[in-house]
Amino acid sequence: MTFNTALDSIKIYEAGLPIELAVRKYGIAEYEVVKLASNENPLGASPKAIDAIMKVAQNAHLYPDDSMYVLKESLAKHFNVTSNTLIIGAGSDQIIEFCIHAKANHTSKVLMAKTTFAMYEIYAKSVGAQVIRTSSHEHNLQEFLEAYKAYKPAIIFLCIPNNPLGECLDSKETFEFLKQVDSNCLVIIDGAYQEYAKAKDSNKALNPKALMEAFPNVIYTGTFSKAYGLGGMRVGYGIANVKIIQALSKLRPPFNITTPSLAAAVVALEDTEHLQRSIENNLEQMPLFENFAREKGFKFTPSYTNFITYYLEYPLDSTEVAEYLFKKGMIIRNLASYGLNAIRITIGTHVQNEKFFALFNTYLKQK
Ligand SMILES: *Cc1c(COP(=O)(O)O)cnc(C)c1O
Repeated sequence: MTFNTALDSIKIYEAGLPIELAVRKYGIAEYEVVKLASNENPLGASPKAIDAIMKVAQNAHLYPDDSMYVLKESLAKHFNVTSNTLIIGAGSDQIIEFCIHAKANHTSKVLMAKTTFAMYEIYAKSVGAQVIRTSSHEHNLQEFLEAYKAYKPAIIFLCIPNNPLGECLDSKETFEFLKQVDSNCLVIIDGAYQEYAKAKDSNKALNPKALMEAFPNVIYTGTFSKAYGLGGMRVGYGIANVKIIQALSKLRPPFNITTPSLAAAVVALEDTEHLQRSIENNLEQMPLFENFAREKGFKFTPSYTNFITYYLEYPLDSTEVAEYLFKKGMIIRNLASYGLNAIRITIGTHVQNEKFFALFNTYLKQK
């Protein structure tokens, strides 16, 4: 059988390895496995969100509310926008997919940073669009502007802060850049880690309402998978001008968010204490990772997220390091698939982090 030739150049997305694999493959007890690979919240979900999930279990036979009235009202209040400027996706991944399908085709170009979230390329290529990357690994808006003028892309992706490197554009420079982009170019601002970035430095805070009001061609995407601790529930959102939201809504499959997910997201958004605890843990623990890197001589970019990326140098090899740690029940992210000899570690609880330092130290000593 032949398939859509657009798929030929797509490499399957490499997700963070699941805990179950370490259990199955190496017989490690489940409770001993530590997963610092997918930027999940190490404190777990809000206990109140877990209660909300349990409560709606009895409605499992009913389709969810496809209007998503309650979650949209909550998000609208949270961001001080009207609910017709919101769209909800099964993770913000799905919003990104809607954007690509609404705007791009095989004649389009899609511009992004050299090293950024892998799903942008996968979705762009799925419609046969051409991917253009800046030459710097990290976001450099001067390079973005030059590439924008040279290639006239249909879509620009800005990941603020950027996964998997951790750097973060200032909100001011982002606004200055957007002023120079034509209103027919869709700019997707991926704010998956904004909760962490703005807690660390208010200059990094992006206001979706201000973005939307200033730029009719910009969509801001956010997610409940990271700081809100609901990665397993798959809820994300987009905030944009009504016209963008209407176009994307044509592509949204009915009932794309399950009833437990809707209930959990509403409660998680209200539980500001849990969010605060999560952000504080991150701010407290991040310096330990920076110190460890300095001690060992690893280069890293100061991170505005809940992960840190260590660049390794020969003879250290990221694939070997990740495999060694995996066998010891410590799951981290090997960035070899991004073409980098680097590892990305999610900031865990203090106990989890100490375990990581101890295991990695043992490895480094025997090297
Ligand atoms: C995790 C992540 C997402 C989306 O995750 P969902 O679980 O689909 O909401 C989007 N962008 C970046 C950069 C991410 O790291």
